[in-house]
Amino acid sequence: MSKCGETKAGDGNKVNFELMQLALSADQWVAICAHLTAGLPEEACGLLAGRAGQTHKVYLMTNARHSPTRYEMEPRELVQALEEMDERDWELTGIFHSHPAGPPTPSPADIAEAYYPDSAYVICSLDRGEWQARAVEIREGRTLEIELRIGTGDAT
Ligand SMILES: [Zn+2]
Repeated sequence: MSKCGETKAGDGNKVNFELMQLALSADQWVAICAHLTAGLPEEACGLLAGRAGQTHKVYLMTNARHSPTRYEMEPRELVQALEEMDERDWELTGIFHSHPAGPPTPSPADIAEAYYPDSAYVICSLDRGEWQARAVEIREGRTLEIELRIGTGDAT
C-alpha cells in the first residue's frame, strides 16, 4: 500500500503540513475550560477552526461515548462543523479533548484514532483543579510537540 510514487498534482494548497504552533484567545480558552468542566467526569471534546495556526472558531462538541476515558465526536455535530469550515474556507486546525483523570499525554487510543495528521491534538488535563493543555501533532503513530499559545492569538 505504499504511496511513495504517487504524484502530488493539485496539492499545492496544503498549507497546514508543518503546523508548529496554535493560538487561542483568552476568551476561547475560557469557553473550552467551561465545556471541559461541564463534561466532568466524562471526557469532553471539540474542534478548532481557523487558518495558519490562528483560531477563528471553537466548536464545543458532544462526547457520544459519554465515557471518562474515551471520546467520540457526535457524528451529526461533526458533519455540521466540517461543513461550516468548508463554507468559510477554514482549516481544521485542532481537535481537543480532556483527560479528566489522566495526564495530558495522548493515549494509545488517541494515537491509533488520530485521523487528522494536519490538525493539532490538544489534550487538556486537570492540574490542582485548573485545566492545562498540551498540543501535539500525531502523524503515523508518532507525536510531535506543538507550541500552544493562549491569550496571545487574538490579533485579528
Ligand atoms: Zn485521550
